[in-house]
Amino acid sequence: DPENIFAKILRGEIPNDTVLETEHSLAFRDIRPQAPLHVLVIPKGAYVSYDHFAQEASEAEIVDYVRAIGEVCRREGVAGDGFRMISNAGAHGVQEVPHLHVHILGGRNLGRMLTPA
Ligand code: 5GP
Repeated sequence: DPENIFAKILRGEIPNDTVLETEHSLAFRDIRPQAPLHVLVIPKGAYVSYDHFAQEASEAEIVDYVRAIGEVCRREGVAGDGFRMISNAGAHGVQEVPHLHVHILGGRNLGRMLTPA
């Protein structure tokens, strides 16, 4: 879906608060932060989910994306005290935006991973 909000951010049609930009990836602050640090990291390629990316992205894109996520954690100062990465996919994952994104959350104790549905 080329009209999804992250595709528009990548095309420069919607502003974003960029944390890191690399050849194949973009990291920016979530508009509705759920922790003191809440950054989204997306590949520039039009991949919908992690499994889609893992299957179809080039090795250069995959290496760039994995390293960009680690670099954001270090730059934003959560590598030491810790952080959580979440990538929602599909209906059961309650994915809102159909462009792969990893949420990086940190800056406080985040509690247990899931609350009961
Ligand atoms: P999902 O539920 O798909 O895993 O997460 C989508 C995330 O995108 C949400 O945390 C939401 O706050 C964030 N988001 C939605 N629209 C925008 C936007 O226009 N700009 C930014 N920076 N984040 C957005």
